[in-house]
Amino acid sequence: MTITTAALLAEGTRRLALAGLDCARQDALRLMAQALGIERLAVYVEPRRSVDARAAASFRALVDRRAAHEPVQHIQGYEEFRGLRIAVTPDVLIPRLETEGLVERALELLADKPGALVADIGTGSGAIACGLAVARPDLEVLAVDQSLGALAVASDNVRALGLGSRVRLLAGDLFGPLASLPASLDMVVANPPYCPSGVIPTLPVEVERFEPRLALDGGPDGMRVLRRIITEAPRFLRAGAWLLMEIGEEQAGPLASLMAAEGFSRIGARRDLRDVERYIEGRWAEGAASVPLTGMAAQRVGC
Ligand code: GLN
Repeated sequence: MTITTAALLAEGTRRLALAGLDCARQDALRLMAQALGIERLAVYVEPRRSVDARAAASFRALVDRRAAHEPVQHIQGYEEFRGLRIAVTPDVLIPRLETEGLVERALELLADKPGALVADIGTGSGAIACGLAVARPDLEVLAVDQSLGALAVASDNVRALGLGSRVRLLAGDLFGPLASLPASLDMVVANPPYCPSGVIPTLPVEVERFEPRLALDGGPDGMRVLRRIITEAPRFLRAGAWLLMEIGEEQAGPLASLMAAEGFSRIGARRDLRDVERYIEGRWAEGAASVPLTGMAAQRVGC
């Protein structure tokens, strides 16, 4: 017996909605495209296309996994990030829309720095490093992570995107692998773990159960790794280089104070579309006094 794509999609959407998922229809659509081996758009274009029993069974199996809150990106094995297909596994944080905003800002700050050398600290899947290297063919990126599982994923992404000559992967804790490169970076960019430990049990099941704690847990106030990056980065930055990080709610104030105390100037926080101060930046060793923290442009958010 056969069923149409439209009917199967409606069935999957209902099941995911009943499981309490906010993006039931989008997720069902992604899983349908995966089960059928077609593009998402084709599901819309051919609603009456008949699906054979085997493909329908494979779709229902994927829907079962999603209904148990496994992230759709784990089921598919990838997420789209700035138009790139980034492979993901449970060893890495799934790239977020907010982090696309981090890359956008990094590109703005790097606009006047041809051939810049950038370090992506805690690269995870390599999404930030790859996003930068694809957008700017003159950049070189050193992508560091202490998780060998994450580096294996990043390595797949770097290779698949043909970036092997410009994105170098290094194993170690924060700046450890860069010890021989004092004062040579034009930018340090990072999306470190910034969730307060106590908040993690309250996160959605998709995050709390399926994403790596190492990529999420920033200690009691969420700022343990952010603070270390602020204090350890200066040794590796050239004059005029930028430190740019993704941060959690209510962290901009204390982090800006720490950056000022360390000698950064032009310190600023930027908001995402939820109006949360999500990014912090500062310029190294310009000699200028730090300016007051300012809120700036919004970024996109969504399902
Ligand atoms: N933004 C992530 C979340 O929603 C946290 C990412 C991080 O800690 N770097 O869970």
